[in-house]
Amino acid sequence: MGKDGETGSTDGRLIVVSNRLPLVLSQASGGAWHLERGSGGLVTAIEPVLKDTQGVWIGWPGLTPEQIRDADEFLDQKSDELGYRVRGVGLSPKQQDDFYLGFANQIIWPLFHDFPTQCNFDPTFWHAYQEVNHRFAEVVADEARDGDFIWVHDYHLMSVAEELHEKGVKSRLGFFLHIPFPSRDLFLKLPWRREVLEALLHYDLIGFQSDRDRTNFVHCLQALRPDVKVEGRGRVLKLEVQGRTLGAGVFPISIDVDEFAGPARSPQVSERVARLWTEFPGRKVILGVDRLDYSKGIPHKLEGYRLALSRYPELQEKVSLVQLVVPSREDIPEYHRMKREIERLVGQISGEFTRPGWVPIHYQYGRWDRPELIAHYRAASVALVTPLKDGMNLVAKEFCSASLEGNGVLILSEHAGATAQLQEDAILVNPYDVEGVAEAIHRACTMPDRERKDRMQRMRRKIQNEDIYWWVDCFRNAANGVEEAEALPLDVYLPSRA
Ligand code: UDP
Repeated sequence: MGKDGETGSTDGRLIVVSNRLPLVLSQASGGAWHLERGSGGLVTAIEPVLKDTQGVWIGWPGLTPEQIRDADEFLDQKSDELGYRVRGVGLSPKQQDDFYLGFANQIIWPLFHDFPTQCNFDPTFWHAYQEVNHRFAEVVADEARDGDFIWVHDYHLMSVAEELHEKGVKSRLGFFLHIPFPSRDLFLKLPWRREVLEALLHYDLIGFQSDRDRTNFVHCLQALRPDVKVEGRGRVLKLEVQGRTLGAGVFPISIDVDEFAGPARSPQVSERVARLWTEFPGRKVILGVDRLDYSKGIPHKLEGYRLALSRYPELQEKVSLVQLVVPSREDIPEYHRMKREIERLVGQISGEFTRPGWVPIHYQYGRWDRPELIAHYRAASVALVTPLKDGMNLVAKEFCSASLEGNGVLILSEHAGATAQLQEDAILVNPYDVEGVAEAIHRACTMPDRERKDRMQRMRRKIQNEDIYWWVDCFRNAANGVEEAEALPLDVYLPSRA
């Protein structure tokens, strides 16, 4: 269903399967269950389709199998209120460790983000992955009917379709990978590369964030399954696998623009923006918002900023970097090391450049609520979005949507999925190139007003046209074989053009 309520083209129910349910369940000391609904563009865009098709959302609500049995009745009641069914999958503490923290976050996440040395290829993790995918498939099979469309999300659940086929489920199956797909040489390091690739071929449509990821996937197929015929070009390629045809498409995920542009205009945010501007008098705010993760390249960014301040001393006292680092995966030791490294660099930069009345860097480790985040997006003159690798990067799109004055400049890593769509108007950088980042910061801070506005206007339009509702429609239409969806123009980023 489009944003304005047009009917989607998929018949039957939509069954969404994701590792986490879009809600948090907790139990009071008296035993009563409490539900908190999740938010975010994806949930906002998918919920209307679920309601429209009397669909189901299946995922792990953070509970063990015993707790799920206890919470089942409560979830059924809540399904009526939500307007679609929710089914929880319970995971034991060991499965949470080995499947989620292990296979998903210590194997697939680092490998697919080009950090093979961060991988812990413990075979126990793979067995837990298979076991949990099997468990998810059992719950999905219990719900599925032939006319349904089952849409599985992300790297935690790549084997669900294969498990469903083993159970004889005949519904159409789509998969969307929210993170990058690695290049062939990296993928080949995965001890279970063949199993993972074969599992993906059980879907009817495999969606990627960008052409870069799909190209990598095709290269992996050529290496491991050269018998698979790849045909066509454009948004959806056709793959012929032993008499079956499936699609491999590019669907860049996006945001609900109104969730950012709307509140950005509100009195609460406007007042906060005005206060931020007085807190940084006569200075440009350069904003960084990143989850604590090695893929975000926060230390590289700080080095780039440090070099910008020393190489372009006219920036000193004229700019301040506000860097929010959002806590993440605190159970993995590597993340603690990274936090210490970031804080050491922040300390060094502050020690080197701080003057009376000017602090070069305002570092915060924590979370901002929505109004605070949007106020920062709107108040910032420059967003410094420099991941070493990112599936998409929604912060870049949120910044543009909240940039009401229209004069913000986006510095964007060429290794973010968002680059394909925003390449013409963002200042692109290779985040490993510290000198390039420093130069981009200088260029962004000295860009003439007219140019800033023109660039931002074009980026805002692009994001508005290809928002999260467009994304949902595009994927569902392609899954349904609607040719217009398949023929939509595709943005491709070629470094040779940069
Ligand atoms: N975000 C948040 N709390 C904060 C700061 C950011 O929830 O305090 C959100 C932000 O709005 C964005 C998401 O975190 O939607 C980050 O998404 P992105 O795609 O940029 O990176 P990811 O963290 O998913 O790798």
